[in-house]
Amino acid sequence: MIFDAVSYDDHEQVAFCRDSASGLRALIAIHRPGPKGRALGGCRMVNYASEEEALDDVLRLSKGMTYKAAVAGLALGGAKGVIIGDPLNDKTPELMRAMARAVEGLGGRYITSVDVGISGADVAEMQKITKYAVGANAGDPSPMTSLGVFVGLKAAAEHEGITDLKGVRVGILGVGKVGYGLAEYLHGEGAELVVSDTNKSAVEKAVAQLGATEAPVETFLSEDMDIFAPCALGGIIDDASLKLMKAKIIAGGANNQLRRDGLADDLKSSGILYAPDYVINAGGLIMVDSEVDLYSLDDVRDRTMKIAGSLAEIFKASDEKGITTLAAAEEMAKRRYSESWATAAA
Ligand code: NAD
Repeated sequence: MIFDAVSYDDHEQVAFCRDSASGLRALIAIHRPGPKGRALGGCRMVNYASEEEALDDVLRLSKGMTYKAAVAGLALGGAKGVIIGDPLNDKTPELMRAMARAVEGLGGRYITSVDVGISGADVAEMQKITKYAVGANAGDPSPMTSLGVFVGLKAAAEHEGITDLKGVRVGILGVGKVGYGLAEYLHGEGAELVVSDTNKSAVEKAVAQLGATEAPVETFLSEDMDIFAPCALGGIIDDASLKLMKAKIIAGGANNQLRRDGLADDLKSSGILYAPDYVINAGGLIMVDSEVDLYSLDDVRDRTMKIAGSLAEIFKASDEKGITTLAAAEEMAKRRYSESWATAAA
């Protein structure tokens, strides 16, 4: 079942975790270990329709974590945990402690953290059992994610010959924690902001505080804009939205922006520069990693600023080799992953 699964990519380990007393049914996938034998990735709690769906999710997401950590230059491999259940109705402290025992049982090979359906408070509950849970103490990672997206967006703009953001129209879909932080940076550079959000008060704040223009969610992508910054949910770029899009650059913080990988080819042939999401939004992961590897906030900022250089390299490789930015990012991830092992061995 696993070795033949579509999303299986030579994953090193997949653990099935069951605790009948608490009702825990969970999967932990370690895609690759880092050079120090550790792999990190949040734990999700989702009411999956089937076990196959949960397995597919944990395999796919853990692989994504390997690439994300490698490009960000972290000494970590990629892993992920998923708990099958409804976070609103099925989550209990006993369940979180049972999950923590499963994590502890892996002896530090898997380090868990927050994700969809799992909060900092849940991680704090897990920390009563295991030291291999982070994200409850480092503080909100969102401001660092916003900073990384900002410097990454500037790198994308520079690649397209835009050296000054003054008067450049940037559309931000989702002005929540990441999107609003990004909007503040862009406002500081004199960019013209077009914003949309299903939460009216979030939009009103951006309009009042940052002089942003409001646009409807439904027709957002057809708005006149130079740069599109997706900062809400994933899957925003699909075949239909691509046809509507006016922006020539996509650089935003949302995870899994492309509904399918093949869209990266369509973006390239349409002349739209795409900043791969897992590269540009790694600031939050770097923040969480600082709790594992114990480095300072200044170091977190320095590492986050390097996202700009990584993206510039990816754009250049994409141009020179005639490959998509997604393919160029994957090449960089694999190279940096090998390099991190070589550095650790030296
Ligand atoms: P958030 O919940 O604070 O903000 C998301 C905003 O999007 C909210 O204001 C919400 O109302 C809005 N929204 C939801 N659905 C929408 C829709 N259909 N159309 C328009 N707006 C919609 O979340 P966040 O932490 O800012 O994360 C935003 C994105 O960035 C997510 O995809 C998340 O996975 C990703 N991300 C976040 C971090 C982080 O550090 N917070 C790190 C990496 C990636």
